[in-house]
Amino acid sequence: MFRKKFATAMLIALAWAIPACDSGGSQPSIVLISIDTLRADHVSAYGYSRPTPNIDALAETGVLFEEAHTVAPWTLPAHMTMMTGRFPSTHGVDNDGFALDDSIPTLAETLTGRGYRAAGFVAHHYLAATYGFDRGFDDGYVYRQYLNDPRMPGAAVRGDSVIAAASDYLERSKDDERPYFLFVHLFDAHWTFSAPPPFAGRYSDGYDGPMDGTLGRMMPAIASKRPMQPADLQQLVDRYDEEVAFVDDLVGRLVAKIRSLPGGKRTVIVLTADHGEEFEDHGSLGHSVTLYREQTHVPLIIADPAIGRKGLRVPSPVRSVDLAATVGRIAGLPDDDPFLAQGEGQALQVHLEAGAEPPRLPLVIETTRYGHPRAAVIVGTSKAIAAMDYDFMGIQQTSDGPRQHAAASWRRRLELYDVAQDPLEQRPLKIDPQDAAVVFLNDWQERTWQGLQLAVRPSAGWRIRLSFPPGSTWFDEAWMEDGTRTLRLTINDDRLELGGFPPGRTYRIGLPMFIDSEEPILILEGLAGRAVLLAGGEQFSLEPGQTQRLDLSRADLCADAPPAALADGQVRIRTRPRPPQAEATIDTEAEKLLRSLGYVGR
Ligand SMILES: [Zn+2]
Repeated sequence: MFRKKFATAMLIALAWAIPACDSGGSQPSIVLISIDTLRADHVSAYGYSRPTPNIDALAETGVLFEEAHTVAPWTLPAHMTMMTGRFPSTHGVDNDGFALDDSIPTLAETLTGRGYRAAGFVAHHYLAATYGFDRGFDDGYVYRQYLNDPRMPGAAVRGDSVIAAASDYLERSKDDERPYFLFVHLFDAHWTFSAPPPFAGRYSDGYDGPMDGTLGRMMPAIASKRPMQPADLQQLVDRYDEEVAFVDDLVGRLVAKIRSLPGGKRTVIVLTADHGEEFEDHGSLGHSVTLYREQTHVPLIIADPAIGRKGLRVPSPVRSVDLAATVGRIAGLPDDDPFLAQGEGQALQVHLEAGAEPPRLPLVIETTRYGHPRAAVIVGTSKAIAAMDYDFMGIQQTSDGPRQHAAASWRRRLELYDVAQDPLEQRPLKIDPQDAAVVFLNDWQERTWQGLQLAVRPSAGWRIRLSFPPGSTWFDEAWMEDGTRTLRLTINDDRLELGGFPPGRTYRIGLPMFIDSEEPILILEGLAGRAVLLAGGEQFSLEPGQTQRLDLSRADLCADAPPAALADGQVRIRTRPRPPQAEATIDTEAEKLLRSLGYVGR
């Protein structure tokens, strides 16, 4: 058994190591299929009881990654990671208003720069050109064009239209000898759960309750935070599974089309999902905010006909940030290609190399959706999740007009799970500050936090005051924690006093600030005891009565080096500007679309 797998791995390594040639002769055509909202455990190749025969058939011709996890639990940042090979906190397209900055290269641009042609067919506004997704798709990037199609009711584009358009493109361009990169996105498994015939009713027939698959009927259940009636919940699952069956059928149609084309038997097909979906696994429905397995575990199948033996299953955990590099390697990019060298993913071919023990890189999942910054890390069998939650959120009036979010109180909650003993993440463990996932998560958040980040190790009787630039804070209270307890902090008139809490520990606090001030100066004032400030590689001593001014716009205040342990009386201060990014243009029509789909929009 083991020997057989070993031999397979060697064959694959050879197939995936064929060097590229600039003429395109040895570069295979590549299709990336992203199925929105498809949780891995609702695919029969991943053990589900309801069949997805076409996805399973694809897996039988390639490699299936059993433990693939997305980097973000919602559409926009998750897909931008697929297209850039960078985490959301790096590419910066993590909310409605942001588009990819020109300084960050995309997979499609990179491939078209090396002899490929590229076309994209997508089904949702969160993959629209306005966010920068169309970059590099020189043969066309189709989304809004559908909306003028009279066959398309409502705002979401149905998958059969996407597949028809993509198939039409393949047919039209079949005599073009350049290899192609085709990106296809299917939105059907996302709510509204309402599959077309013959899939409608396959599992959901015989129910006469209120659930019709629309978000409107789900919202009262989400808002009540009480468990649904079992029959209502089952109806949602049944309707979701009907959509999955529909999408599976579409995948079958597309794969058949690809394989029927000249050279189609050599085309590499990659199938994955941007995130999963919750059905009260952790007390709610949908996706976007929490980072538990039902939302992060996604299918990942790479069907490469050049692979000698098929059907290999890779058990090691892998990340969606690795996908772009993997596709880049299939296309023959050399290791020193800037797209690979500067990306944050690692090509998955390393998992298939003969005899190699693949490095187990920490899995990171992050989101700032709806103003809830959260991150999770899986290291080995430990999974740590940090959630920053509001007690209140609303509109804050400032001298510059209304600010979208205002928080009366912030709290960082930390959870820890043993994913080997408790794979469904139902039994949180007592937090161990030394746990590898907790340590990595704390460091990750410190490196990526887009606000003010403090680490404080007070000595006895020590007290300092921080005065923020006017108009730059949007909270009245915050919580700091050392992994075992939390302490409440009160911020009055843009001032925060630190002191009066137990010494001998390091506390961390992330203050979500947007600094609008022309003079983003933080003033630190010693009130009692001697404090040592560490900021941007510099050290300042602060005696009682002394003040120190710190320019928060200084780029060097965020160093990438792992933070050193603090000594008693020390405070480390870091800020990180938002990553480079452009502004996404969302016109009234697009905003209407987003609202019709249940999104808030900006
Ligand atoms: Zn999505």
